[in-house]
Parts: sequence; structure tokens; C-alpha cells
Amino acid sequence: MSKGFWRYLALWRARFPRRRSLRWRGSWLQNDYCRDCRFCCGPQDSGDPFYMALLPEQIRPNLSEDFYLFDRATAFMDARGCKAATERGCRLERVRRPPACGIFPLVLANGCLYLYKICPAVLLTPIAAFAEIGLEAARRLAGLRVEDARHISLGLSVETLARSYISLDIRIFDEKGMVECPPLEKRETD
Ligand code: SF4
Ligand code: SF4
Repeated sequence: MSKGFWRYLALWRARFPRRRSLRWRGSWLQNDYCRDCRFCCGPQDSGDPFYMALLPEQIRPNLSEDFYLFDRATAFMDARGCKAATERGCRLERVRRPPACGIFPLVLANGCLYLYKICPAVLLTPIAAFAEIGLEAARRLAGLRVEDARHISLGLSVETLARSYISLDIRIFDEKGMVECPPLEKRETD
């Protein structure tokens, strides 16, 4: 993401004068900003690949018809966008989409959940509301095998996290394995 935070904030404020709803749907995030945004499936303003690893059960023949592939289990998108994107949105059934797509703008990176900073839903929604959605997503991710969670987790540098992400302080796994995610009311405050 090379354009600045303030530029996106002004853009999204003009495009979305009213807040829209976000709802966790059991296994994916319904985000009512997406239909008038479509930013994250189309051509990106950075040439850097955004990796979207697949779960073992999602690996299928002719995967390259749907995705640019880094390896047989990892799709990516870049300045060309995603191969599965159409003018009407994603042409794939949800179960065929990489796990990252179902939770975005929540992002699993380095074992923890972050928000992708310049998404309009992130910029225009109170962080407390997103924190609760983050916990819902965490409960879903907690059902993964640790090797799958590690596979779909991005490895991002401290600099990239500081530039483009907001930490939700929710850990999904660590070096020992999956981390139990407590309900919101039982979480300790720092
Ligand atoms: S940037 Fe956010 S609102 Fe826009 S399409 Fe992606 S997830 Fe949806
Ligand atoms: S698989 Fe679908 S939802 Fe995911 S990035 Fe590609 S077009 Fe978007």
C-alpha cells in the first residue's frame, strides 16, 4: 500500500457518508462496505504480492485458473489483482476462497490478528466493535490445526505492521501451539 493513510481516509469519508454494518456470519465477515469498495480483490496500488494460503482441503486441480500461485498451496494477488475477481465480485464459492478472504480486513499475521489499516470498514468503524468481531474470527481460527494456522498466517515485518496494520492484541497461535481465545468479558485489561 503506497498511498497514504490520510488520502484513503478522505476518499472513504466522501464515498461512505454513513456507517455500514459488519456482521460475523459464523465463518466469514459480512462487510457492507465491500460492494461499493471492491478495493481488495482488484488491482493493488503496490506491486508487492499479498499471499493468501489455502488449506489442504482447498487444493484442487487447475487451481491456476482461479489464482496466481506462489506455490501449490499459496495463492497471491498483486498489481494485477486476483484472478478470481470479476466486476460483480468474487466468482468463487466461499469454501473455495482462501481463508484470508473470509476474514479480511482482519489479517492473521505472525500468529496474531490485525486490521488492515486503509480498509474503509476499518477506518470508519469504532475499534471496540472490530475487537469483538476479531474475537469471533479468533474462535473460528481456533478450530484449525496448528500447522494449517501457521500456513495461512502471513509473516510480516515490524515495519510493515506499523505502516499498514492495527493490532487487535489477539493471539491465535504461538511456538507451543494454538492459544485459547477467552470470551470478551473474561479478557484481562492491560
Ligand atoms: S478494502 Fe475493505 S471494504 Fe474494501 S473490499 Fe476490501 S474488505 Fe471490503
Ligand atoms: S479469491 Fe475472491 S474474495 Fe479472495 S481475493 Fe480473490 S476475488 Fe477476492
